[in-house]
Amino acid sequence: MQHYTTERMRNVVLLSHSGAGKTSLAEAMLYSSGAITRLGRVDQGNTTSDYDPDEVKRKISIYLSLLPCEWQGFKVNAIDTPGYADFIAEVEAAVRIADGALIVLCAASGVEVGTEQVWGYTEEQKIPRLVFVNKIDRENADFFKALEELRANFGKICLPIELPIGAQQAFQGVVDLITMKAYINGQEGDIPDSMRSQAEEFREQLVEAVAETDDDLIAKYLEGEELTDEEIRKGLRAATIGGQVVPILVGSALQNLGTARLLDAVCHYLPSPKDRGPVSAINPSTQGEETIEADPTAPLAALVFKTTADPYVGKLTYFRVYSGTIHSDSVVWNSSKNRQERIGQLYVLRGKAQESVPHLIAGDIGAVAKLAETVTGDTLCAKEHPLVLPGIKFSEPCISVAVHPKTKADLDKLGSSLARLVEEDPSLRVHREPDTLETILSGVGEAQLEVAAEKMLRKFGVDVRMETPKVPYKETITVATKAEYKHKKQTGGHGQYGHVFLELEPLPRGAGYEFGDRIVGGVVPKNYIPAVEKGVVEALQEGVLAGYPVVDIKVTLYDGSYHVVDSSDISFKIAGSHATRKGLSQGHPVLLEPIVNMKITVPESFTGDIISDLNSKRARVLGMNPQGGWNVIEAQVPLAEVQRYAIDLRSITQGRGHFQMEFSHYEEVPAHIAQRIIAERQKA
Ligand code: GDP
Repeated sequence: MQHYTTERMRNVVLLSHSGAGKTSLAEAMLYSSGAITRLGRVDQGNTTSDYDPDEVKRKISIYLSLLPCEWQGFKVNAIDTPGYADFIAEVEAAVRIADGALIVLCAASGVEVGTEQVWGYTEEQKIPRLVFVNKIDRENADFFKALEELRANFGKICLPIELPIGAQQAFQGVVDLITMKAYINGQEGDIPDSMRSQAEEFREQLVEAVAETDDDLIAKYLEGEELTDEEIRKGLRAATIGGQVVPILVGSALQNLGTARLLDAVCHYLPSPKDRGPVSAINPSTQGEETIEADPTAPLAALVFKTTADPYVGKLTYFRVYSGTIHSDSVVWNSSKNRQERIGQLYVLRGKAQESVPHLIAGDIGAVAKLAETVTGDTLCAKEHPLVLPGIKFSEPCISVAVHPKTKADLDKLGSSLARLVEEDPSLRVHREPDTLETILSGVGEAQLEVAAEKMLRKFGVDVRMETPKVPYKETITVATKAEYKHKKQTGGHGQYGHVFLELEPLPRGAGYEFGDRIVGGVVPKNYIPAVEKGVVEALQEGVLAGYPVVDIKVTLYDGSYHVVDSSDISFKIAGSHATRKGLSQGHPVLLEPIVNMKITVPESFTGDIISDLNSKRARVLGMNPQGGWNVIEAQVPLAEVQRYAIDLRSITQGRGHFQMEFSHYEEVPAHIAQRIIAERQKA
């Protein structure tokens, strides 16, 4: 690949609802630009973007992929992203490092849930956009209906810069609303008569919107003068970069129609890294904020946005250079870790293909293998001028599974392979649940966790079973009680003797465990009291109802007796333990379950469905806060009912809702449910 200046680079992320055609479009863009010589197909599993076995198998994108191509003197770094909500972390990373977005729409489906979501991301990150209405060749394709939906959802800023001539099987080409010419099979011609007035109307809207964003243009426009094509293009570029206009194009990725014009639009209307403006970074040596420019001669600042772990090739680190230049075979400073990193060979990636490059300048995107310490979100810079770029915000996990290795060999490699998975996917988390002794893997969706399990097997040879995590139930008593136990064995030789009276009292929820000592006159000698407590603690580890740990209880030793010769620590420990178990049985024990606080955000129209589902889950709805068409519902719900809430919420709202969940407290399990849990536990 040739060398391009920062001004001649375009980092553009492809975003859409799943299945709108991003991967096919990226493939067509590569093919049109001559980067590849064969047009791969998603259905045949041979596209440049979806090369990973997980992707080929499912025929969907799971990972972002870098797909650079050269077009008319520009380097276009296209970044394909997955459309499924489960793989959102890849989208978040791609959006973070892109300068412009290409939002793909299916001409038959129009605006879908995923379209609304990705539109939201581009709003949050203030990324200039183009829209490509794809699949115009398909049956039921309707450009004008899609346009209406775009405008209804996102406003009048959505403006076509071309119109399709014919649709579905009869799609022939487009009318360019700037040149006011028709383009059919790459040939320029006159606009068909039947479309002339429609084209004029749309051009008028476009010109007016563009003129409104520029003082010189509006003056000229209001005086009734015609704007030149060049003026419209220049104004449109500024308006697109400023977010005042979103140009809309049309075509078919599958048939490679409209992609050349789309590439033109990417280069003409989307910003270069320089146009995006300076970004701010923190200088850790001064703690001050610095603005850094997309200038190859400035100090280096590069953001790591993805890490892949390959058992053979090792670790591959993807980064985007924000300022300065990074060189192969050099040393850089990881300012997030305060560590030096050795940079070996730098690469430009295209799907799985790697091309070695001597350096990468401000604005460009590349990768390097085998960095020791660096993880996603870190900044690479020069040690003499340390800088930390803002990291990447990833979605919080909302669904968890317990990971059980199938064999001893799997168990041995479990920890290290899970660590590698988490390194690759920052929206995965792993922890050990101390109450249930399970290894818990959490993520944003079920499919993401399934892919993680497959990846563990394929990449690291670790075979696991994934199950819904066990609920960490606990037990407690509800009435105060007293219990005595005398442990006595005095048949010949050295005997055993320990004798205690315990009082067991329930404590308020969350109080935990307390031990009291009310021994007077040394009826139990001081040196044996710790042994009694040991026995108590041991007994509390397994409650008498279903073997769950006992909490919220105070156990007090208030009387007892001893034997000068036969008493010992072990005798008093046994006595303490037995007396506790006796007391627990007498204290009307109950089962406790964890209750979580939930905050569920859904479009207002789903409120009724959410509430009735929550009611069926034994929830207590605490409040509702409608705001801007959304409703934030707060509730307390038993954990046992919502371990798979991510899946339920997605099906209730077709993916429009999201939620947060955190542990709140323990509460008594209703009797009929407790009976079932106890019975199941006894069976196990
Ligand atoms: P992505 O999920 O957005 O990456 O979409 P894909 O590129 O994987 O495409 C999803 C499906 O739509 C595949 O079966 C493609 O063959 C098909 N497809 C993509 N583009 C077009 C198009 O322009 N016309 C038609 N008819 N089908 C298309």
